[in-house]
Amino acid sequence: MLAGCTAARHATGMSRYIDTHTHLDFPDFDTDRERVLDDCYQLGVRRLVLIGVTRKNWQRLWALAEADTRLYAAFGLHPLFLDQHQPEDLNTLRERLQQHVDDPRCCAVGEFGLDYYPAKVDKQAQQILFEAQLQIAADAQLPALLHVRRAHAPVIAALKRYRLQRGGIVHAFSGSYEEACEYINLGFKLGLGGAATWPQAKRMQRMIPRLPASSIVLETDCPDMAPAFCVHQRNTPSNLPQICRVIADLRGEPAEQLARQCLHNTCELFDWPLTAVS
Ligand code: ZN
Repeated sequence: MLAGCTAARHATGMSRYIDTHTHLDFPDFDTDRERVLDDCYQLGVRRLVLIGVTRKNWQRLWALAEADTRLYAAFGLHPLFLDQHQPEDLNTLRERLQQHVDDPRCCAVGEFGLDYYPAKVDKQAQQILFEAQLQIAADAQLPALLHVRRAHAPVIAALKRYRLQRGGIVHAFSGSYEEACEYINLGFKLGLGGAATWPQAKRMQRMIPRLPASSIVLETDCPDMAPAFCVHQRNTPSNLPQICRVIADLRGEPAEQLARQCLHNTCELFDWPLTAVS
């Protein structure tokens, strides 16, 4: 199917959404990117953040963001692509942020962070890259979009040292309630997406109702992280309203209410006027 799942198509209504984490620049969308964007727009997904992962994809991200007012860009160096990054990429990142300093389409540094999930990880190299980007986010006064797997303790420890003024988002958050509280106290939001829709995600489903509404933002991480109602298909931003519905059900609140709150949280984080997201 080209543009999202049938289930998502039924999740209509007047709610507006922002997809805070997408990889729409990936080749998975080369044949129908425009259509994917138009489809999700019809479902209320009015803004999307394109996420940088390596220096190579930054130019492409920016070209897409410049060509479409729905798209915003974040630039960063992902911990899983450690062997593709060069030491000079950090300087290039600084230069790029400087170059776009007055352009609101450049909205964050990310994604970057620590990932201890793979069997072989160079924790020291990840830490150096992570802290360098925390400093860059602090200097640029931009939010940080973090990728964290099995590494919440060292990430929280580093955030306590850097104390980012603008906070950020822990994308695809899957930690404990206690870890969530630590992030929230450090000014971070928690990005929730397709993972919460899987029946086996029991711990996450117990945690979600306990989260303060002001801490949640929505994301798809498309084309990855397909929700349970869209299994074996490409994940697209059109799934976001249905993801919102599932999370609202877990929290026992109306989906419209959660959508409104997440929109508010996201606009607050990125310093976007709520009224501009129409
Ligand atoms: Zn991602």
